[in-house]
Amino acid sequence: MALTESPPEILSETNLAPDRLAALSERVAGDGTGTIAVRAPATDTEIGTIPAGTERDVDVDVERAREAQTGWADRPVEERAAILDRFGDLVLERRAELLDLLQLETGKSRNHAVEEILDVPLTCSYYADRGPAAVEDERRRGAFPPATTARVTYDPVGVVGVISPWNYPVTLSLTDAIPALIAGNAVVLKPDEKTPFVALALAELLEQAGLPPGVFEVVTGQGPIVGPALIDRVDYVAFTGSTETGRIVAEQAGRNLIDCSLELGGKNPLVVLDDADVETAARGAVQACFTNAGQLCLAAERIYVAESLYDDFCDAFVGATRRLSLGTDFDFDFEADVGSLIDGDQLDRVESHVENAIESGASVLTGGRHRPDVGPFCYEPTILTDVEPDSTVACEETFGPVVSVEPVPDAATAIERANDSDYGLNASVWSGDRDRGRAVAREIDCGTVCVNDAYVSGWAAVDAPMGGVGDSGLGRRHGREGIERYLEPRTIATSRIGPLDAPPGIPDSWYARGMIALTRLQRRLPIVSGLRRWVR
Ligand code: NAD
Repeated sequence: MALTESPPEILSETNLAPDRLAALSERVAGDGTGTIAVRAPATDTEIGTIPAGTERDVDVDVERAREAQTGWADRPVEERAAILDRFGDLVLERRAELLDLLQLETGKSRNHAVEEILDVPLTCSYYADRGPAAVEDERRRGAFPPATTARVTYDPVGVVGVISPWNYPVTLSLTDAIPALIAGNAVVLKPDEKTPFVALALAELLEQAGLPPGVFEVVTGQGPIVGPALIDRVDYVAFTGSTETGRIVAEQAGRNLIDCSLELGGKNPLVVLDDADVETAARGAVQACFTNAGQLCLAAERIYVAESLYDDFCDAFVGATRRLSLGTDFDFDFEADVGSLIDGDQLDRVESHVENAIESGASVLTGGRHRPDVGPFCYEPTILTDVEPDSTVACEETFGPVVSVEPVPDAATAIERANDSDYGLNASVWSGDRDRGRAVAREIDCGTVCVNDAYVSGWAAVDAPMGGVGDSGLGRRHGREGIERYLEPRTIATSRIGPLDAPPGIPDSWYARGMIALTRLQRRLPIVSGLRRWVR
């Protein structure tokens, strides 16, 4: 059975049909031996159940995907791209239902749900446009042009396993799947057990867009059971989640000698330089820190402000934060700015970080309170100052609406403080001089640095790679790097003169001398480089 006895009250606040979640749950293959309850964070009530997948279920799904992949890869890449582009259109068309499901499962506010949904059509159109070029054969320089040539072909790796977290279950289930599919792979997605329904609705839309059955499979279940079973069966793993789980995934992928990308946690810094416009920087900081109630891997959790601007910045930032409204409604008027945390564990984590900071001497400039009157897991956007550098909130990812602010004497100290972290995902730099902002950005050890913006300009630049350094992960999504990871290059080298060895009747010593002369010529003569280009 996929639904609780009577549909929970919260479902009636959405436009979802009463049996919609049950229908989505039925899409998942499962031996029916176990189920997982899915709860709505806004009310902490059960909204339905999904199959608790087993190793056997993963086996069936991956086998199905493997069978479907060959036919999919045989289709012209333009056809594959057109299907994914159509899927992007469908996501836009059916956004009302996707938004309801997304809010229901995550408790996020409507505005943040919209931001997430819009990401999918953008990624689809980017890879539909650029994907075909990535899989085309390429001529490369041969060993001894024009006597030999080299050509590289790009084949899909096979079946890609995508493991996604709960915080952005639409974006993070698809942003890695879309290029994998266009490259000719099949995908088996394991969404987080807290947010499976929206992933299942997306699978349905992919099918409606024309994706053949089996090419995109969804397996639901507990991470430590389904995750390892998936990694043991696929040819590549695109993982997004915590650093702790990322290390487990990397170890297993390493043992299996399969490649993986790991998009992990962050403790992202935001730097306000002394020539920044304080009001603009404060507005940016609100977005950087409190989007999705801070449950965003790119969210800023540490702010370093030039001393000369510190008081003015704090006034503006605290003022703008206090004006944010909290809410968990299916708010078609977009009235709530910030929604709920995902569950009680996340609330405990946020509360303990703030309590630990206060015990170590930190002051609360605003927020710092659980708000059960709004929702069981709602927590006020919180700004801390005088945070001890070794307190939990200063070192560990909070993944909630909590940020510390600290004055710094100059840009060099801001950079030093920003880099004082094991993580390196995203940073934000604010300056009245964009060149200066970019110069500071170059000094920050993060995979992405946004100048005069919180994170949107970096994430939404789908053409540019995105990922982390240090404890924030390995590999990159987006851009050509985001599709190349799913392709296996094969070099086909051809000789026009038979074996590259001493021809019959030529003594080895002559041949060796000839090769030495040829090597010298190749290294020195510009004309040879020209010839190489011509031969390619
Ligand atoms: P998590 O690591 O607990 O779970 C992520 C996914 O991994 C889930 O689907 C889970 O079921 C699965 N999983 C759990 N154990 C597994 C195992 N042993 N093997 C394989 N899979 C397993 O992370 P979370 O708490 O759900 O997500 C929050 C974290 O994700 C935060 O640290 C956040 O910063 C990070 N995150 C990073 C990015 C990024 O792009 N870098 C984006 C979003 C979230």
